[in-house]
Amino acid sequence: MASIQLTAPNGTSYTQPTGLFINNEFVSATGGEKIETINPYDGSVICAVDAASEADVDSAVAAARAAFKAASWRKLPASDRGSLLYKLAELCERDSHILATIDAWDNGKPYQAALEEDVADIVSVFKYYAGWADKTHGQAIETSEAKLAYTRHEPIGVCGQIIPWNYPIMMAGWKLAPALATGNTIVLKAAEQTPLSILYLAGLIREAGFPPGVVNIINGWGRVAGASLAGHSGVDKIAFTGSTTTGKAIMRAAANNLKNITLETGGKSPLIVFADADLDQAVKWSHVGIMSNMGQICTSTSRIYVQEAVYEEFLSRFVEYTKENSIVGNPFDSNVTHGPQVSKLQQEKILSYVETTKKEGARLLHGGDSPSGQGYFVNPTIFADVRDDMTAVREEIFGPFVVIQSFKTEEEVVQKANDSEYGLGAAIFTQDITRGHTISAAIEAGMVWINSSQDCHFGIPFGGVKQSGIGRELGQYALSAYTQVKAVHDTD
Ligand code: NAD
Repeated sequence: MASIQLTAPNGTSYTQPTGLFINNEFVSATGGEKIETINPYDGSVICAVDAASEADVDSAVAAARAAFKAASWRKLPASDRGSLLYKLAELCERDSHILATIDAWDNGKPYQAALEEDVADIVSVFKYYAGWADKTHGQAIETSEAKLAYTRHEPIGVCGQIIPWNYPIMMAGWKLAPALATGNTIVLKAAEQTPLSILYLAGLIREAGFPPGVVNIINGWGRVAGASLAGHSGVDKIAFTGSTTTGKAIMRAAANNLKNITLETGGKSPLIVFADADLDQAVKWSHVGIMSNMGQICTSTSRIYVQEAVYEEFLSRFVEYTKENSIVGNPFDSNVTHGPQVSKLQQEKILSYVETTKKEGARLLHGGDSPSGQGYFVNPTIFADVRDDMTAVREEIFGPFVVIQSFKTEEEVVQKANDSEYGLGAAIFTQDITRGHTISAAIEAGMVWINSSQDCHFGIPFGGVKQSGIGRELGQYALSAYTQVKAVHDTD
């Protein structure tokens, strides 16, 4: 059975595909293996979905290859590709309540955030890249009168896309949209913890009218389906978001046929508060920066540095703000802003960091535990007076867990901010515009926010430096991640 009727905790009934989406059909996995997907709010099983075997990955890649060669996609006018993407955006808008319900149920994120942030974002992303489809092209290059030279921006081919569980539908949208706008075909693997909204999206892709095989969506284990996709000789490009460790494994596997790669991996992003900052704004954004999505954001600003003169005041205001604004509870309650972590494994991992950080001598200001009762919750956790060598300052925790320390000078804080293997995001709070831009230039990161945090936009490139990744998603920059340049020389 490749789909079932489900009713979510908020009463929403809908048809949930559970099979593998290959050639525009939902099919069963050949090995018969299934993965149960869990509601992190109470640990109950939502349903079981098919887990792709290596043979299923072969079928999905073959479907994508055939679609890439087929005239129905290859010769489709670019503006028609744009129309398909726009239609997909409209279908996501139509079913936004269902998509948000699924992500709140499967992932544990508050429903309102899923609707207003994640689903709203993919609608924008599909529309944005619909617009790019017929506006990305090469150049004519002047050399001599005897020569006509020009470039073509061609699709790369079959793209493998591997996504994580923290923003299920949004990560799918960020990867699918630029790849489709530029004429590629795709095999996308969902994260095993959160496959449901992406399988639902597969139905919308078919309804929008994409030809069979252009988008194939599989669920499955990372070490089986993910590894097989990353190493597959029929795949021309791999785009990945997830942990740095897995990113390295994917890079190694992708080397077999020299695949084009983009990687968006871990982070330990600094947020710097100078004494001249608007402290209300700094407190508000510091909270957004680490507590949104229960801290499960690769760019979360998880290390806060506050200038000495305002350190204690910042600490007390930040704790008060967190108490008032992190409302822990059922993701479907409209006032709740803080749901469970995605899985028991993540909950246990975060709580183990609490113990380590206490042992290493930091001052626990708030949280550090779970509320009583069911579910994989971790209360917002704030540690102060940390040192640079502490585990929680160095490692990505991926939870609502922030470490704070004070600093004296600009030079000192830049050194501390850059003292990390990661380089994803960074945030600076100051009212001195010159300082804001000087520090932005000095910080080793792919993105810097001045007087905000996590303030992303589909038109602005997203990605990291150092061990936070390779390449950029979103904006015009993502188009070059999914195209290759051919130079044509025509000499008299
Ligand atoms: P992960 O990197 O293991 O999984 C991400 C995706 O990669 C999933 O789809 C998974 O199935 C797949 N995968 C796993 N092993 C693979 C392999 N060998 N080859 C190919 N694909 C493979 O991340 P996780 O286990 O879900 O989370 C672990 C940690 O990763 C988290 O605690 C967090 O620190 C980090 N993380 C980061 C992000 C991010 O956006 N940067 C997102 C999720 C998790």
